[in-house]
Amino acid sequence: MKFIADMMLGRLARWLRLYGYDTLYGIKEDEEIVKIARKDGRIILTRDSGLVERAKKLGVKAILIMSNSLEEQIRQLMDEGVEFGELFPENARCPKCNGVIVRVKKEDVAGKVPPKVYEAYDEFYMCTNCGQIYWPGRQWREMEKMDKNFKKLKH
Ligand SMILES: [Zn+2]
Repeated sequence: MKFIADMMLGRLARWLRLYGYDTLYGIKEDEEIVKIARKDGRIILTRDSGLVERAKKLGVKAILIMSNSLEEQIRQLMDEGVEFGELFPENARCPKCNGVIVRVKKEDVAGKVPPKVYEAYDEFYMCTNCGQIYWPGRQWREMEKMDKNFKKLKH
């Protein structure tokens, strides 16, 4: 399953990436969104019913996201059959750019992360596209908390 999310759904797009889904975000024009979805076989996620209609006419799958709340959006996708399984970092996409994330050696991030972080952690991951480095720090733990909450949403 691959997605393309409209401009209203940035947070949802980032979370889909964290769960490993190839998710495009940042394309403003409806026409362009439908074109890319059709070409790549992506499912459109949108808050705009007009865009859903437009996509369906061209045989492109689109899901009208009903709520502004992230939890409700995730619950809706669960109901649509989207699995929220393994969270970041294994098999995840970079939340910033949708690039593939790989584990890297500690030596590889020397000088690229704050010295305190380098000392405190032995596990590092890097985005192969934008170079963003990730480690199991505070933000990571916040993410795991959110993941637990999402898993409770399932009916
Ligand atoms: Zn990236």
